[in-house]
Amino acid sequence: MKPLKVDHVGIAVKSLDEAVKLYTALGLRVSHTETVEDQKVKTAFLPVGETNLELLESTSPDGPVARTIEKRGEGVHHVAICVDNIDEALQAARRAGLTLVDEKPRTGAHGARIAFVHPKSTRGVLLELCEKKH
Ligand code: ZN
Repeated sequence: MKPLKVDHVGIAVKSLDEAVKLYTALGLRVSHTETVEDQKVKTAFLPVGETNLELLESTSPDGPVARTIEKRGEGVHHVAICVDNIDEALQAARRAGLTLVDEKPRTGAHGARIAFVHPKSTRGVLLELCEKKH
């Protein structure tokens, strides 16, 4: 398993429209928007060089992003690392004794295979592992 890059930094926001306005005012542009039903979020990706900001707005008051905002307010939600093989990455995480949110990869934005590692085992960072379609 090889880590490839920081794919994106996820930012939880109350309003995607308002957040997009703010970041585009800084010169960023939206390359992709998508609703991921599974996670109850609307997302917008804004590329910055090799990586992206992923703005996340909950589509439901009981979604994970809404609950995070309730607890901690808006802000950095997760860091996503792209790997060449997510099954091997999950095995390595398991071997290292990390707590997985997802035992098996599921489908995220862009049809990528993703899995989250719990922040309690990563020094407070919700870590997203992702493997893009080749
Ligand atoms: Zn993400």
